[in-house]
Amino acid sequence: MKVEFVDYHAVATWSWDLGDASAAGGDDLCGICRVSFNGTCPDCKYPGTECPVVIGASCPHNFHMHCILRWLEQESSRGLCPMCRQIFTYSTEMLGDLPELTKLIEDHAAMRARGPDDDGFEQLEATG
Ligand SMILES: [Zn+2]
Ligand SMILES: [Zn+2]
Ligand SMILES: [Zn+2]
Repeated sequence: MKVEFVDYHAVATWSWDLGDASAAGGDDLCGICRVSFNGTCPDCKYPGTECPVVIGASCPHNFHMHCILRWLEQESSRGLCPMCRQIFTYSTEMLGDLPELTKLIEDHAAMRARGPDDDGFEQLEATG
């Protein structure tokens, strides 16, 4: 019997090395979808570089990229971390600059700078 390896794909287990970030009190679950970073966000079928873990710089919270993108796309997020309500910024140490995410963060910053700084929740009043 002759066995020939035509093509071989190594299957390796991997995990994000969150290093200090997970030691600093963040857990290994995405704060938005509550799925482990070794799994994927609800948008993705397979873990991988398409959906990296975004490390919070202003707070110890980490999120799947898709999850935090989707959160920040909502105007009502006001650019804040969904966990601790600090202004969300991310560490570029591991991933470099993520233009999509940077733009959302900057848009929120501009919005905050424009509008009056009300610290309460905006009430939607029914008119008419
Ligand atoms: Zn997630
Ligand atoms: Zn994803
Ligand atoms: Zn936070």
